Amino acid sequence: MPKAKYIFVTGGVSSSLGKGIIAASLAKLLQASGFSVTIQKLDPYINIDPGTLNPYEHGECFVTNDGAETDLDLGHYERFLNIPTSQANNVTTGRIYQTVINKERRGDYLGKTVQVIPHITDEIKRRIQILGQSGDYDIIITEIGGTVGDIESLPYVEAVRQLQWDLGKENALVIHLTLIPYLAAAGELKTKPTQHSVKELMQSGVSPDILVCRTERHINEGIRRKLALFCNVEKEAIIESIDANTIYDVPNLMYKEGLDKVVLKKLKLKAEREPTLTKWNKFLHKYKNPKNSVEIGLIGKYVELQDAYKSILESIGHAGAQNEIKVNIHSIHSEEITKENVSDQLKGLNGIIVAPGFGERGIEGKIETVRFARENNIPFLGICLGMQMAVIEYARNILKLKDANSTEMNPKTPFPVIDIMEEQKEVTQKGGTMRLGAWECKLDTNSKVFQAYQKDLISERHRHRYEYNNEYYKQLSAAGLKATGVNPETGLVEIVEIPTHPWFVGVQYHPEYKSTVLNPHPLFVSFIKASLKFKK
Ligand code: GLN
Repeated sequence: MPKAKYIFVTGGVSSSLGKGIIAASLAKLLQASGFSVTIQKLDPYINIDPGTLNPYEHGECFVTNDGAETDLDLGHYERFLNIPTSQANNVTTGRIYQTVINKERRGDYLGKTVQVIPHITDEIKRRIQILGQSGDYDIIITEIGGTVGDIESLPYVEAVRQLQWDLGKENALVIHLTLIPYLAAAGELKTKPTQHSVKELMQSGVSPDILVCRTERHINEGIRRKLALFCNVEKEAIIESIDANTIYDVPNLMYKEGLDKVVLKKLKLKAEREPTLTKWNKFLHKYKNPKNSVEIGLIGKYVELQDAYKSILESIGHAGAQNEIKVNIHSIHSEEITKENVSDQLKGLNGIIVAPGFGERGIEGKIETVRFARENNIPFLGICLGMQMAVIEYARNILKLKDANSTEMNPKTPFPVIDIMEEQKEVTQKGGTMRLGAWECKLDTNSKVFQAYQKDLISERHRHRYEYNNEYYKQLSAAGLKATGVNPETGLVEIVEIPTHPWFVGVQYHPEYKSTVLNPHPLFVSFIKASLKFKK
């Protein structure tokens, strides 16, 4: 088995520079040159995973096929690379410590004092090498969360230093992503923050092999020379990363800058071909040259923070490109929607998505939204909580089951049309205990979803505790809310539709986790198409 090579991506100067996008873009280029690549994210916080984090804290929680609740960067990795990630692709400080402490309790350390170095760093190194040892990948890119200089990043930087020493620089290289700010008053790009951040890294014994420089203006020869000289990096390894119109431009931009070439040279790897991005660029062309446009409403309660719905927004973008439609997204706060103002709030929309979510806040606005979409024949896609709201709306307004609800919102509702699963009733711990990961679903062949997927057995990812209550199945179906997708193993209803409506679909799962650039999700594609039809 050939040995896997490792690439570490660290960040300096500021957070939010887009390490995930740079890592994903590099991975894309290497993949397009014939290598098998995966990306891993190490997060320096103490939560075991982001599953228990509020979206306001951390943005969306991305879910993998194997049911890991992960950082949203894993979504980018999947969208770029078109291959699934897993539990091993996201590791947090919490998980590292948990493993070490469990080992200590078992007595594995044989009376030794357990310390950050070597025990925590060894565990970090082990986690980094798990993917490499699987034999599935030629190259593992590991993104180190946080910014160099943060106290909590220190053990990770030390682990990287040791791994470079263990494996040799030609098997493990470090890319440092940094910011070159433009000072308008001086009319100049400034390299000093980068110099300091590289110095910080060097103080920990790591000297970057490649610098990727985020910038809003082109960096010229002089700046490249300066950066090379003062940061101890070869000039060809100074890579400009200029602000892009879309994240999907970044692989091409990195290719132009020769990032993949420098990486391969330093890792002493020979590519079988130049990166071929034909399909990718076809997508980009359609994305940038739409023939039509539609207005889509995204109704949720975390709309102030775009990252909270990252995968949904990206999926809509993919579906728009596929249809050559520009999608204008209107994020609307569900708490601001009432019976009285709903028609104003949702005026002019050609399609409506009701977003996933937890807890009671904003749900009445979501229910009003569903009613509005249903009564006005506006294409509707309800995702997870959005699907549950569709069931509640139907129960209340069509079946006239007054106060029908989910037991999540009202444990005493007389009509629990959405209810907690039997096996969930015993669960007391919040972390990692929902219905998570991929489940199969059998589709009714006479349905919108079947038309969209073009097959009758699908697999989609879940993240929820509450379910459609089958005690109301007969009533709801007879009244016109059809269950068109059912879990073959458990009999749980995963999809509801109104066949008499032009396009009304609620799904208990999260289709947004599976949409990629090369495989836009069929449900979003179909929804956007229906929205254009409605517009016309
Ligand atoms: N709160 C709902 C549940 O737990 C829906 C969750 C979601 O939208 N992801 O079932």
